[in-house]
Amino acid sequence: MKIENPTLCIIVPCYKEEEALPIFYDTIKPVLDSLPARCSLLLVDDGSSDNTLGVMRQLAQRDSTVKYLSFSRNFGKEAAMLAGLQNADADYVAIMDADLQDPPDFLPVMLRVVNDDARNYGCVGTRRTTRQGEPPIRSFFARMFYKIINKISKTEIVDGARDYRIMSRRMVDAILSMGEYNRFSKGIFGWVGFNTYWLEYVNRERVAGETKWSFHKLFLYSIDGITAFSTAPLAISSYLGLLCCGVSMIYLLFVFIKSLIYGDPVAGYPSMMCVILFLGGALLLGIGILGQYLAKTYLEVKGRPAYILQEKKLD
Ligand code: UDP
Ligand code: MG
Repeated sequence: MKIENPTLCIIVPCYKEEEALPIFYDTIKPVLDSLPARCSLLLVDDGSSDNTLGVMRQLAQRDSTVKYLSFSRNFGKEAAMLAGLQNADADYVAIMDADLQDPPDFLPVMLRVVNDDARNYGCVGTRRTTRQGEPPIRSFFARMFYKIINKISKTEIVDGARDYRIMSRRMVDAILSMGEYNRFSKGIFGWVGFNTYWLEYVNRERVAGETKWSFHKLFLYSIDGITAFSTAPLAISSYLGLLCCGVSMIYLLFVFIKSLIYGDPVAGYPSMMCVILFLGGALLLGIGILGQYLAKTYLEVKGRPAYILQEKKLD
C-alpha cells in the first residue's frame, strides 16, 4: 500500500567510526532533506572504544532527527542491526554502513520502489557487482562460501548482497519475529521472503577509518551462517559412516578369505594403521560438526540478550 509522506528510519551500525561519522552525516543530510518522507537517523554505537558516542551525542544535540543507542561493549554488527530494527518506529526502515561504502544517492530510488503500489516489493536491496579493492584471497573464500551455502541451504543467500537495504514495516516485523540469538542477517532477509528489488553497483572504498572485519572474524561469521541456515554438515558424518561400514564389510570378507587360503601370518601393520587413522579422523570430524551445532544450541538455550544498552536517546 502506498503511504503518503511516510516515515523513514535509517539505522547506522557504528564501531569505531569517529572519523567517518561526521562525513557520513554531512553527506546524508542533504539527501534525507530531499526525500519525500519524514526521515530520522538511528545511530547504533557498538561499544566503540573511541569517541564515536561523543560524536553521536553532538549530532543528536544539533539535529533532533538524530537518535542513538549505545552498547556497553562490542556485540557485533548483527546485534547492532537488531537493536536498530527493534527501536526503529517508522513505515520504512533502512540499514546503512557509516563508511559511505553504501551510496546515499540510491535512497530516493529505493524509497520510490518500495513505496509503490503497482510494484509489490517488500524490500529494496543492493549488491556489489565486483569485489574490487578487496584482497584476492578474501574474494576467493567469499565466493566459495556463497557457492557452498547456496548448495546446502534452502534459503537463498545472494552473493555480493550488502546489508544496505530499505524494508517495509511488514518485513521488519517479520524479521523481529525471528527470536534467534545467533543471527545471520543475510540468511534472515532471505528466509522471511517478500519480493526484493536489487540495485547493483560497483564496490567503493570506505571514506575514513578502516574495516573492522579481519579474515578470522569473517571465517567465524561464515560458520555462523552455515550452522544457522543448514543442517547438511550433520548429514556428512552419517554418509561417511555408511561409506566406512560398506568398505569395511568388503575388507572383512577379503581378510577372511585370504586367511582361509594362506593361513594367518602376522602382517598388515601398514593397512591397519591406515584404517585406524582414517576412522579416527572421520570420527573427530563428525564429533566436531556435532559440537558446532551443540554449541549454537547451548547459546540459544541460555537465552541471553543479544546486546546490553548503556545509553540511548530515542526522542
Ligand atoms: N560494525 C559494527 N560492529 C562491528 C563491526 C562493524 O557495528 O563489530 C559496523 C561498522 O561501523 C560499519 C559496518 O558495520 O558501519 C560495516 O563494517 P566495515 O565497514 O568495517 O565492514 P566492510 O565494509 O569492510 O565489510
Ligand atoms: Mg565498510
